[in-house]
Amino acid sequence: MHVPFEKWVDAPPKAKAQLAANPGMPIVTVDLGVNRLAVMGAFLNDQLMTTQFIPGGTLNHQRHQWLNVIANKRSQSGRLPANVHDNVDLWEKVRNIDENAVRQVARQIVNFAITHKAKVIVFEYLRGYKAPKEKMSKAGRKNHKRAYWLRGKIMQWVRDLAFREGILTVERNPAYTSQIRPHCHTQGERKGHHFTCQNPAHSYHTDADFVGMMNLYRKWNGTFVYPRKKKRADEPNPTQAMA
Ligand SMILES: [Zn+2]
Repeated sequence: MHVPFEKWVDAPPKAKAQLAANPGMPIVTVDLGVNRLAVMGAFLNDQLMTTQFIPGGTLNHQRHQWLNVIANKRSQSGRLPANVHDNVDLWEKVRNIDENAVRQVARQIVNFAITHKAKVIVFEYLRGYKAPKEKMSKAGRKNHKRAYWLRGKIMQWVRDLAFREGILTVERNPAYTSQIRPHCHTQGERKGHHFTCQNPAHSYHTDADFVGMMNLYRKWNGTFVYPRKKKRADEPNPTQAMA
């Protein structure tokens, strides 16, 4: 049963104004992923206070199984006329599984922000979908795409739910967020879930989504350090080029 109701909230001040007024203000940053739905971090006075992970493996597996069933049924039924939808009930099921996950994850993110008294939630700006280069089954590809699409849906729901609590949702440029180690600003290597810092002075391994979440905080307060472009040896320096 749905009971509609109205709630009036005062529009919160712009995120940048809030940051200028209180640089150490409580903040929640969220890295949305595919195998891991979300990694959340709560910051206060520029310190990471708590981390929370929301796993997505079960959801992906469950969805993949249903997509396999759909793919099998399709291969048995042959080509359908263009305006006839296949496996209507099964697709409905897949949509329901996703929709349910979106709402639950969004609620968890907003609750996390409320618990840690954050007035701003920072996400990375989601870029357009790129199909993976690896070989995948049709169902696997569809599954990957849906998991990606889910991230945008989660953000939409968070924005809406959070606003009702007077919490703003902002997006920051995702460039290099999973490639630079937030502590030493050295570029690292990402392999699947794993991040390895390539600074020869020390050895550091961690979870790649954790790195993304930490760097989002640096993007928020402006302390993110972009990698310096290596100059090619044959590249003339500007004064030479002018001469
Ligand atoms: Zn390092």
